[in-house]
Amino acid sequence: MSLIINLAYFVAAVLFIVGLKQMSSPTTARPGIIWAGVGMVLATVVTFAHPEISGGVNYTLIVLGIAIGGALAWWSGKKVQMTDMPQMIALYNGMGGGAAAGIGAIYLLQATPETVTTTGMAIAVIGSVIGSVAFSGSLVAYAKLQGLMKKTLNFPGQQVLNLAIIALVVILGFVMALGDGTIGGGTLLAFFILSLAFGVLMTLPIGGADMPVVISLYNALTGLAVGFKGIVLDNPALMIAGIVVGAAGSLLTQLMAKAMNRPLKNILFSQFGGGSSAAEEEIEGTMKEIQANDAGIMMAYSSKVIIVPGYGMAVAQAQHKIWELTELLQKRGVDVKFAIHPVAGRMPGHMNVLLAEAGVPYDIIYDLDEINDEFKTADVAMVIGANDVVNPVARTNPDSPIYGMPILNADEAHNVICVKRGRGSGFSGIENHLFYAENNRMLYGDGQKVAAELVASVKALG
Ligand code: NDP
Repeated sequence: MSLIINLAYFVAAVLFIVGLKQMSSPTTARPGIIWAGVGMVLATVVTFAHPEISGGVNYTLIVLGIAIGGALAWWSGKKVQMTDMPQMIALYNGMGGGAAAGIGAIYLLQATPETVTTTGMAIAVIGSVIGSVAFSGSLVAYAKLQGLMKKTLNFPGQQVLNLAIIALVVILGFVMALGDGTIGGGTLLAFFILSLAFGVLMTLPIGGADMPVVISLYNALTGLAVGFKGIVLDNPALMIAGIVVGAAGSLLTQLMAKAMNRPLKNILFSQFGGGSSAAEEEIEGTMKEIQANDAGIMMAYSSKVIIVPGYGMAVAQAQHKIWELTELLQKRGVDVKFAIHPVAGRMPGHMNVLLAEAGVPYDIIYDLDEINDEFKTADVAMVIGANDVVNPVARTNPDSPIYGMPILNADEAHNVICVKRGRGSGFSGIENHLFYAENNRMLYGDGQKVAAELVASVKALG
């Protein structure tokens, strides 16, 4: 039996890895998710036959838990808007971390001098800390992304308090790991409360435009915690799934941190992204408006147009109209390119997915590094629903919460057209100096409506 179980776990692990590989490209991402899902179902089903749970456990309770959890996940997955995905991911990260911490708590609680080893206890302790931090930190990230709490929360002595808490967690962890296995309820409770508090406190100051980094960091931590629990439970499927998620999450964290130009050590050990909003500079100039008809004519008579999509394009679901506009411009001989910022929208790859869905070919979609030098040769940069990712203060104001983040140099184009509904700020909540620039015109309205008007304007030229 154990051979069949291990074989099934091996197949599940292969499916996880194949799925993950396929998720690296928008064209194969869908089957990738299905393969990884099949792997997960296989691993779950086969675990019912595992010798450790086949005797004496309450199957009804387990099936009921899976049914309730599965139904909730199915319902929320169907219902969630694409723009709300980060909240959902934060919540699911939290669940994974919480589950890992729960397993750790039971292991530590049931430990006896006869059954435990120092290594086993140490692994359980490490997994529990990471799982607890991922759980509580993810819940705070969820609340911030859902608009349930302030984006950044700083108070004096925050760093010292964080340091003191983590020091206590480490001490308690050592006491438990090096002890004889009998852990007092008080010690265990204090250990978990402090670990959870650390997750909350670590996430409170993070705001600005840094949330993508924190979400992928918690994703990585959840994976690690699950991997550690796999070792504790001696379950290869859990180990592999955890390690795969942990490794993928760590790579994503590094990529996002690089995209935001924040060294990882700052992410972990300083109040990153928590810059003061009071540090905003006086803005010179006024916002000048343009009508869709004139903007359409301007683009139709251009040689090169670069389109910068952002979160607002996703909200407005304007990608199909934007592609229609692109095709019309291309027919007139205009060279149209799309510039994608790594954190545009609300999840990594958000804009690429939307543009792919609308049928925009990949060869006219460029990453920040590939296209940034081209803005100065563009007649028009059309920014649709993007804000933070084109805010020049990231280059100019060291006190700005987004200072240092590489931005798309839309302001360097001969003319800039910014499509948005009004004076709403971006995710980081700071004013955008681009909107006041001499070469910029504001084109107010919902992204989809404006895109349709631009299409009509270009069509009218024949
Ligand atoms: P922003 O969130 O900075 O700005 C979006 C703009 O879109 C707003 O200023 C808003 O202005 C406008 N908008 C909203 N709805 C519409 C609509 N229906 N039609 C037209 N415009 C609309 O977007 P960016 O893409 O520039 O930046 C992404 C931000 O999100 C970054 O700060 C990033 O760090 C953060 N983030 C990214 C994640 C990721 O993984 N990519 C995850 C979490 C956060 P108005 O209200 O006036 O219309």
